[in-house]
Amino acid sequence: MVCNEQNTMIEIVPFNEDITCVKTATEQDGAAIMFVYAYLVRDALFDTGCANAIGGIREFARGNKINQVYITHSHEDHVGCCKVFEGNVAIYANESVQKALRNPVQRTEFFRFVWGQPEPVWDSTLLPDRFSIGDLNFEVVPVPGHTMEMVGFYEPAKKWFFAADALPLPSKKRIAMPDENVPQMVATMEKILAMDIEILFDCHKGPIESPREHIQTRIDYIKEVQQEARELHESGKTVAEIQEILRLEAPWYMEMTEGRFGIDIFIKSILFDKPVL
Ligand SMILES: [Zn+2]
Repeated sequence: MVCNEQNTMIEIVPFNEDITCVKTATEQDGAAIMFVYAYLVRDALFDTGCANAIGGIREFARGNKINQVYITHSHEDHVGCCKVFEGNVAIYANESVQKALRNPVQRTEFFRFVWGQPEPVWDSTLLPDRFSIGDLNFEVVPVPGHTMEMVGFYEPAKKWFFAADALPLPSKKRIAMPDENVPQMVATMEKILAMDIEILFDCHKGPIESPREHIQTRIDYIKEVQQEARELHESGKTVAEIQEILRLEAPWYMEMTEGRFGIDIFIKSILFDKPVL
């Protein structure tokens, strides 16, 4: 596996007069392994893409007026290019993210291949509860679950919500990370469902118009599996047996994550209502 500038992708896709999608990924066999979306909202960048795309983001930053950066959470595909802005532009992040920026988790080979290893960023500014970009007024909304410190950015007049990774990418979530709290993720999705949103900006799916059904499908699936898993658990089945009975199969890359993702982790989280730390 090689990580160099040649095998990274950056795609700039204008969405409307205020918002541009900034998609970054690592390329394999001519296609993106997985895109992560950062969003340019007028002169503010929400998240910075994956570290492997740092050359592309540097070039993008040269050609666009970016005066502020807002970070949703500390995962390497969201903070990967903060280094480009350090010292030039205010990087707003909550306390927990600021800590992670200073001392990024050293990722294993697979994740360094997929996203890249972020460099430490010392210079960041504490994220306020609300902020403005011209006449756009954003509220910072906690969206815990995927990570506990994660936030989204809500513009109530436009009915836009930048939801980071609050919604699982697949409609049928079956793997989780040890620091993920899946029931908390469901509670967050229910909170988002109660908000007045016309466009939800997802960090892997892109902009989703009228997102209600998209969100509800994900809530319903997890609740259904949770119900079944709990019944099996009460009847004495082990986590491994529950996985087999519910036919929860591993994606191709599972082994390579070296324990960062697991089906057993997902099952334990829905059984016990807490992260499996
Ligand atoms: Zn994430």
